[in-house]
Amino acid sequence: MAALSDEEIITAITTAPPSTLRSVLRALCADHITKRRIGQMLSQLPLKDEDLEQANTTKQEAAHQEICIQCGSTFDQGDESFSCRHHPQDMEIDFASDFWADCGDEYDDTPFWREQNPDGFTFPCCGETGSSINEGCTMGMHRAADGKRGRYD
Ligand SMILES: [Zn+2]
Ligand SMILES: [Zn+2]
Repeated sequence: MAALSDEEIITAITTAPPSTLRSVLRALCADHITKRRIGQMLSQLPLKDEDLEQANTTKQEAAHQEICIQCGSTFDQGDESFSCRHHPQDMEIDFASDFWADCGDEYDDTPFWREQNPDGFTFPCCGETGSSINEGCTMGMHRAADGKRGRYD
């Protein structure tokens, strides 16, 4: 079977039975960085039906929650307030950084290195190091992944 297109993936996530989505999420956990990201996201959203009901009764409308791909926080679908603090550009490895002086050639621009050694990376938008990932230089609207655009386009 052919793999789904970007847009078909988003449609499938909306319509597939929960057991299908669980299988995909479990398989994604084979990658430990993805697994940790899944854990971070799960910790921000209701994990039990009771939690979901409680969250919905405390709001006027049962707003659907999304996770922002720019800052990683949850937000209500349709929230257009400028409450997203993020870096508008992706971090880049800083080869000139003293941080890498002792590493020889044993480093690379991969999710693993970014997570393990954020001080060896900088954000081109403001020059801050990768450690400032949660203290972005720009305020804007939150953005959910829509499958059409990536994090920085
Ligand atoms: Zn920045
Ligand atoms: Zn955000």
